[in-house]
Amino acid sequence: MENSVTAPHPVQPDAATPEPVLVAMDGPAGSGKSSVSKEAARRLGFGILDTGAAYRALAATGLRRGIDLDDAEAVRGILDDWAYSITLTGIPRVTVDGLDVTEEIREPRVSAEVSRVARIPAVRETLNEMFRRAVAESGLPGVIIEGRDITTVVAPNAPVRILLTADPAVRAQRRAGELTGSDAAEVLASLTERDAKDAQVVDFLQAAPGVTLVDSTALNFDETVEAVLDVIRTQHTGEQR
Ligand code: C5P
Repeated sequence: MENSVTAPHPVQPDAATPEPVLVAMDGPAGSGKSSVSKEAARRLGFGILDTGAAYRALAATGLRRGIDLDDAEAVRGILDDWAYSITLTGIPRVTVDGLDVTEEIREPRVSAEVSRVARIPAVRETLNEMFRRAVAESGLPGVIIEGRDITTVVAPNAPVRILLTADPAVRAQRRAGELTGSDAAEVLASLTERDAKDAQVVDFLQAAPGVTLVDSTALNFDETVEAVLDVIRTQHTGEQR
């Protein structure tokens, strides 16, 4: 089974609670959120739910169907007639209406438009319900759920809540390294623009009360994974470092 990864530092779910252990993780683009949570989940034997992928898939579907992404009702309507799925274990694959859109939703043309669908309250409410249900029904011992409003709206009662940040210039450099044919200045401009639009809807730049801030500006990938695992172990088990 894909989700039976043996973890070197497993966090055991509470035997009395069949619900998965929830790790809520927010952060801006390029903070390392996706790659770090993937590796942390792999080591813990947890699943991972990338919520941004749903917003991206919705924007990509709207663009393909020629829908005006500022038309709240039309965009919300896509969700009534939309077969969306994402895998929570292994390498996440995203499909819409049976079509694999895993690569398509990462294209800069989708990144540039996604904030337009994310600002629609009815879209957020419907997707949030879908996220909560997917996690509750996952059958996994734990799930890291990552996005922008997970620690505050989707799972404010999660036993572990983390905000992962890094300086904008460092985030742009990381993003530019992932995208072929783009330079850091260009990426910094589009990333700053997207952060500004997204920040009008949810505050993911400051940690809410009770949320632990992990700043990855001066950390490499492994150090960031370790920092996140430390928070998970400490907050979930009450273990002191
Ligand atoms: O995390 P990622 O950069 O892939 O997210 C893509 C977009 O989806 C964000 O720019 C934001 O507009 C939206 N989003 C959101 N709330 C979330 C996750 C993503 O509004 N929980």
